[in-house]
Amino acid sequence: MPETGPTAADWAAAEALIRELPPDGRVLLICHVNPDGDALGSMLGFGLGLRRLGVRRMQATFPGPPEVPEPFRGLPGLDLLVPATEAYPDPDLVICFDAASESRLGELVDRLDTAGAALVLDHHASNTRFGGVHLVDPRAAATSVVAEQLLARFGVPLDAGIAECFYVALTTDTGSFRFDATTPEVHQLAARLLATGIRPGDISRRVFDTRPFGAVRLFGEVLGRARLEPAAAAGRGLVWTWATLDDLARHDQRPYVLEALIDSVRCTAEADVSCVLKQTAPGEWAISMRSKGAVDVSRVAVALGGGGHRFAAGFTGRGAAEEVVAAIRGQLDAALIPTAVG
Ligand code: AMP
Ligand code: MN
Ligand code: MN
Repeated sequence: MPETGPTAADWAAAEALIRELPPDGRVLLICHVNPDGDALGSMLGFGLGLRRLGVRRMQATFPGPPEVPEPFRGLPGLDLLVPATEAYPDPDLVICFDAASESRLGELVDRLDTAGAALVLDHHASNTRFGGVHLVDPRAAATSVVAEQLLARFGVPLDAGIAECFYVALTTDTGSFRFDATTPEVHQLAARLLATGIRPGDISRRVFDTRPFGAVRLFGEVLGRARLEPAAAAGRGLVWTWATLDDLARHDQRPYVLEALIDSVRCTAEADVSCVLKQTAPGEWAISMRSKGAVDVSRVAVALGGGGHRFAAGFTGRGAAEEVVAAIRGQLDAALIPTAVG
């Protein structure tokens, strides 16, 4: 897939969809299922920007239970959120955020057909180009980068509310400016966001560095059972662990607390590939994978029905945990990045 961004025609088409909204047109914003900081931050920041443009009838939503993960409950623009069950059935315009494929829209996927028009803002190289108009930039560190560029075309000034949403998105997807996606442009955008007066220390503490004591103990247990397979991925190594619904229940924790687990697992020096299996139902797992550079984990994920980025990807796994890991193991060699071989 070419690493090129939207064309001038794509930008013009996206602008036209918004400019040509009928008076009192209804806009529905949708981000991906199990929303992360980029999904919620790009969607809510863009929604606040549209509001400044005078769009009055607007909803933001995501598929599945309408629960916002605790780390994001301080985000500006949360008043835009409605449960998926209450989302406009036939909006004039639907805008999708951070979703690489239709499957990430869950039960809201029908809006692509029932809406007057569909605009897609994303940065996954694996984006399937669903919907009508695409602003998909695989070079962008986060979907919020694309969202900010579109708002800038309308002359919407960054206020502290919009800035906080986009900052959360940017820090989430760059691992707080640690990943290679952290380009000079990322720091330039971060500088403009910080110039609105938002407080990076407060935001980071809330979003990344706060969890209930029960989650701390749960992490201890789940990390304690991690398995290291040095021979996997042609000797690059695999480390993995799993967390069940029973683990969550015993520690009285909500599923989203597990999203931070992969960051503790991927530290393992002896493994290039890391993986966390998070049980979502009996025999069903949400899989998070990361690579340090030897393996294209998005290839593994796509082969197993999911998607993502080269070094961060996921899919839905079925069966026993051991079976799911066997399926991953079986895909690792084919996903070795050629320049890293030998
Ligand atoms: P996560 O491990 O949930 O942080 O996800 C890492 C990356 O993989 C993100 O870019 C997600 O969009 C993508 N991803 C995770 N789960 C899935 C899935 N079931 N289907 C498609 N992409 C996924
Ligand atoms: Mn995301
Ligand atoms: Mn993203």
